[in-house]
Amino acid sequence: MSSPVQKAASKRRTFAIISHPDAGKTTITEKLLYFSGMIQSAGSVKSRKTDKHATSDWMEMEKERGISVTSSVMQFPWRDEIVNLLDTPGHADFSEDTYRTLTAVDSALMVIDSAKGVEERTIKLMEVCRLRDTPILTFINKLDREGREPVELLDEIETILNIGCAPITWPIGMGKGFKGIYHLLDDNVHLFEAHAKEAGEVIEGLDNPRLDELFGGLAEDLRMEIELVRGASNEFDLELFLAGELSPVFFGSAMNNFGITELLDSFVKYAPPPQSRETKTRVVESGEENFSGFVFKIQANMDPKHRDRIAFLRVCSGKYTKGMKLHQTRIGKDVTIANAVTFMAAEREQAEEAYPGDILGMHNHGTIQIGDTFTQGEDLQFTGIPYFAPELFRRVRLKDPLKNKALLKGLQQLSEEGATQLFRPLDNNDLILGAVGVLQFDVVVHRLKGEYNVECAYEAVQVYTARWVYCDDVRKLEEFKKKASQNLALDGAGNLTYIAPTRVNLDLTMERWPDIDFRSTREHL
Ligand code: GDP
Repeated sequence: MSSPVQKAASKRRTFAIISHPDAGKTTITEKLLYFSGMIQSAGSVKSRKTDKHATSDWMEMEKERGISVTSSVMQFPWRDEIVNLLDTPGHADFSEDTYRTLTAVDSALMVIDSAKGVEERTIKLMEVCRLRDTPILTFINKLDREGREPVELLDEIETILNIGCAPITWPIGMGKGFKGIYHLLDDNVHLFEAHAKEAGEVIEGLDNPRLDELFGGLAEDLRMEIELVRGASNEFDLELFLAGELSPVFFGSAMNNFGITELLDSFVKYAPPPQSRETKTRVVESGEENFSGFVFKIQANMDPKHRDRIAFLRVCSGKYTKGMKLHQTRIGKDVTIANAVTFMAAEREQAEEAYPGDILGMHNHGTIQIGDTFTQGEDLQFTGIPYFAPELFRRVRLKDPLKNKALLKGLQQLSEEGATQLFRPLDNNDLILGAVGVLQFDVVVHRLKGEYNVECAYEAVQVYTARWVYCDDVRKLEEFKKKASQNLALDGAGNLTYIAPTRVNLDLTMERWPDIDFRSTREHL
């Protein structure tokens, strides 16, 4: 007999979409919501985002640029399951949050543009998924356009991303000659119809004479091609998929509503429900009765009337009920969570209850940090919610030198939210700001002015990357600190960091100091 918590957990599927900008993530998100009945028409996801935040001033900036700084969580039902889709900002709003969100999901959907294949952003996001061996499903999009040969695309995914591919559907033609997909497991053909609201004709069996009727000589070609595909590609294997080693692949055209329901059906069938999670002391199973969860994102000013922040918490076990008292383990305090929100597709809603896999939005005034664990009393600390080494750097220049203290406080607090990181070199008084996405620099200038009344600007700085420095041998570490001091800094939390001016410099330094660990991620505590 399973408990209500176990039952609810087994029905949850929490995932995110990874893709390079323009591969079709937004279009797919809209179609998922559309097919699940959460929205009435496509096109509303983007516009809703901008309307909702129109009154907030730094959201104004996002409106001007036609993009969204905020990333949200969408919950929708599919068949008997409840799906949580965590948005991963991808355009200029790309940030460290995008990476960290991937540590809060149980699976990911990789979207590939059939004309472009594997692109640079996808490679990076895939690396992050690898940290937890997250199971990956693949959707190859835009089959209504001339793209690359499917076999070539699978080959590229396998070689560049180092993951096996198991086609579940196979495209029949492409571009103007796109006829539909063949489902390798169900042995049926789904005919393509552009912009169809309902599923098109389904033809059972590859031997069905209806195919000859429709396709003529092409039907025989298709039969031969499928035989080749079956012979040459991996068969789907659930265990390998769950281990993050094999990706089931689907083809379609999101814009044309095609291939999406097949994808969703397989997604709820194969993607894992909430998984167990490591803490510093023990593994927490999702079906445990007591509540636990961790914060993976902090977002400010969602409601411009209040200058508060929302901490996004992923529920790992137990059940949340409104008004519940939770224990914030880092500071050892009990807090009553009365006004948490959940994220349905249509609107933010007051959360009455939430289960493993769900996301809660908790209001706070800066007392919650990325990586914080909340429990029903047990002293736990979830691991695997890292900070990621920034990829872009700027030197901060203060316009009014008398405001140095306020500037520091602002930069420090903003970096606790996790979208930027502050580095203070050991050898000088520079303030170096690092981020994963370029827009974060503008957001910081805006917020420093609005919230801390400090005006600042940026200067270019020659930094390739930052690496957190670890070494058990105290003497070696001291020696390193002396010799490399001009490249060392402390991050916002006081951790020693190596600031590498170039890639070559980093490689050489790592070679020269084999006992020192140069890490590209840092754990919360
Ligand atoms: P995102 O940047 O990954 O969110 O991509 P979008 O969903 O905004 O899509 C980028 C562009 O590709 C838009 O112009 C879409 O209309 C277009 N697009 C999305 N899906 C398809 C498709 O199936 N076929 C074609 N031809 N275009 C598509």
